[in-house]
This record gives sequence, C-alpha cells and structure tokens, in this order.
Amino acid sequence: MAEKLAIAGGTPVLTRGDFKNWPVITDDDRRYINEVLDSGIVAGATAPQVVALQTEWAKFVGARYCLTTASGTAALHMALAAVGVGPGDEVIVPAYTFLASASCIMHQMAIPVFVDIEPNTCTIDPAKIEAVITERTKAIIPVHIQGCPAAMDPILETAGKHDLRVIEDACQAHGALYRGRRCGTMGIAGAFSLNNLKNLCGGEGGLFVTDDEDILKKGDLVRYFGDECDEATLRQKYNSSILGYMYRNQELPAALARGQLRHLEEHNDTRIRNAEYLNRELGNIPGVVPPRCPPDCRHVYWLYALRFDPHAAGIEAPPRRFRMAIEKSLFKEGVLVGQWQTMPVPGQDIFQSMIGIGNRYPWAINEAKGITYRYDPNAYPVAQMFCDSYTIVHSIHPPNGRELNRKVVLAFQKVFDHLGEVMDHADDDIRPGFDGRLYGVG
Ligand SMILES: *Cc1c(COP(=O)(O)O)cnc(C)c1O
Repeated sequence: MAEKLAIAGGTPVLTRGDFKNWPVITDDDRRYINEVLDSGIVAGATAPQVVALQTEWAKFVGARYCLTTASGTAALHMALAAVGVGPGDEVIVPAYTFLASASCIMHQMAIPVFVDIEPNTCTIDPAKIEAVITERTKAIIPVHIQGCPAAMDPILETAGKHDLRVIEDACQAHGALYRGRRCGTMGIAGAFSLNNLKNLCGGEGGLFVTDDEDILKKGDLVRYFGDECDEATLRQKYNSSILGYMYRNQELPAALARGQLRHLEEHNDTRIRNAEYLNRELGNIPGVVPPRCPPDCRHVYWLYALRFDPHAAGIEAPPRRFRMAIEKSLFKEGVLVGQWQTMPVPGQDIFQSMIGIGNRYPWAINEAKGITYRYDPNAYPVAQMFCDSYTIVHSIHPPNGRELNRKVVLAFQKVFDHLGEVMDHADDDIRPGFDGRLYGVG
C-alpha cells in the first residue's frame, strides 16, 4: 500500500510554502500608485485614478457608466436605492451567497426573500423565483457565485413578466461571461467588489455599473451624502436632497485596481486552466464532484468549490461528516481546504432572531399590516446539501499553476485511497482553513 496518511503520522504531500499568495503585484501597480504619490492628489470624485478606473472598467465590461465605490456592498446598496427599493419592499436573493447580497436590502429597510439554488451552478434557481413573488416584490439580486454566471435569461424573463428590477451581484465575477455578455451588465445595475480576496483587487473598494443615466445620477447621489455638486463652480452644495452615505473610493485603491485590471484576463485564464485541470483529474475520483461551468458561459472561478459524495465513494457516513473527515485529512496533507459559507444565509442569527436593524425592522413595517415573515432554515434543501458537502480548494488563484495543482491531485488521490483510515480520524481536533496571507490579509 502507498505511503501513510499525514493524519496518521505519515509525510504530507505539500507544505504551505508550495502555495503562492494573492494578489500578484506587478510594475503596473507600482506605476499607477507612483502616479498618485507624484500627483499629490489622493481623493475626489473627479480625481485622475478614480476617473480612469471608471472609464477602463466601463469599457472592459461594456457598460455605459461606472462609479468607484468604497466596497461591493456599497455598490449594491447604491443600486437598490437608485432603483427605488424602499421600506417594506421585498427583494429576492439566493439562499447561498455572502451576507452582503441580502444585508444591502435591509440597508434600504426592505425585506430579503430567499430562493434556493440550482445544484449544478449553485446560483439562484430560476424555476423557484415565481413562487415567492408578491405585490411587494420590487427586485431580484442574482449572484454570480464563485465566479459562475447565474441563469440570466430565465431570470430576466421572469423579472420582465412581473416588472421587477434586476441588480446583479457580480462581486465574485469580474470578467465572467453569460452567453457573450459580461456579468454585471445584464440588469439595470451591477456591483463588483475590489476587496483583497476578489479576482480584481484594489485592497478594498467596489464598482457600480449601469447603462441608465437616471440610475447613474441617483446612484451617485446615494454615494455621497445625497449632496449635489454645483454645476457652475464644481463645488459641493451642502444641501442634501435625499438620504445618502459616504461610499466613495479614493486614489490609492483605484490605482492598484487599474494595475490589476491590466492583468485580469491573464489571471482569469490561469484560474480557468487550474480549475479545468482539477476538474479533469479530481473528477476521476469516485466521491469527488467538481464544479461545473454552464454551457455558453465563462466561469472565472473566484473560488474553486467541489463537493464530496460519500455514497459514490462507497462510504457509509452522513455527507457533512464525510466532508469534514476528508477536509481534515487533506489539510494534514498540506492542501489548503475549508469552507467559505457554512450555512444558507437565512440560517444566520440575524435572520433567525429577526432583530435586524432593531425592533424587528425592516420586517415590522409589513408585520404591522398583518404580513408575517419567518426564515425557515430547512426551506432551502439544495443550499443546505451544498453547505453540508462542499469545500474550497485554495490552489487555483494565480500565480499558482500546474506545479501546485499536480501535488493537490496527488494529495486527493492519497486521501481517497485510504478512506477507511480517513474516517477513523474523522473526530481528530484539526481545523482546516487558510491563513490570511494567502489572500493578502495582514
Ligand atoms: C465580496 C462580496 C460582496 C461584498 O463586497 P465588499 O467589497 O466586501 O463589500 C458582496 N457580495 C458577494 C457575493 C461577495 O462575494
């Protein structure tokens, strides 16, 4: 029999030193950042890096307008406010996503309504949207999760039928394509994140895109205190017309994002190459279910999420226990694995307690009219199944390539060759995951 598992005292296949960190810094980043330092201009809505980034991103995705923002969450909130989502409105969002896809709705005192995901892509199941639409529904937020495009054609069709606005959460999908169209440009507005983890990194920050001039203007007002600029003097009026926030970005993150943008496609190609290699190699192992890219789409693999199926692996164990046992053994072999979201979003305490903003708001608005809300964590079986059985393999982001991923495959093969022993160590006190440095966190 092959070597002993690392979890049983054998030699690990990999070490932390095999993993290279993200983001990849190049001379383009240094050049733009030096431009900021040399210019002495560090902030402002019309500052050079911010304006250049907006122009370059709009061109890249094929949108008419772009605004840089303080975060992806800010861009989502601006979009909801700009389309007129307000207190007591309902907004549809997938049950498997990051909290911000739903909390942005509550920032407008509106109510998130969750819909289960579709098992192949983990994006919102378009067939389940219609059932939750009420006369209060105003918008749908499809999320291009993990870099995989949501099924936009059926989503847009359902939205059109019910006169709903579509706001795309493209925070994980820079450069992804759905049937030839860039993710983030198919709805009335789209939001991207520039945080350190994402495929386009500015350190922190976000991008708001739209083709609609009115949505652009409203979004811009929400971005900056609701205060307009005097057209004649270009000075701030200090007279807010609506409620706004402070969601601007500034020159240094914009400069970094510009430098990174010059390499986005090359970096996405590396991710796709790494993911396709893993799909091919790991897909041969009974019990490993690799992620899928829908037809006519470009999945940009922000995260590489695969599932484990104990039944297919010939192991009699609940999916969750099996997944955790495999994670522990892989982790001890040196593979950086672990979960991102651990439960469907409606299972989180904020929805279970319904404390919300306070005093049961935003739900209290409609409860006063006799409408009741309850977030049943068992109402999203596909999202729950996914959360029980998936793990993220942190080896696909650039500059990592074949060298690392070949070792990752060897570690998987080793672990799956010793499943009996893997299950014997299922209760070992091991906590899989990654250190912050892997994604540029100090
Ligand atoms: C990262 C992310 C966000 C929020 O982006 P921030 O820039 O961190 O605010 C929103 N939605 C999804 C799906 C994300 O992954």
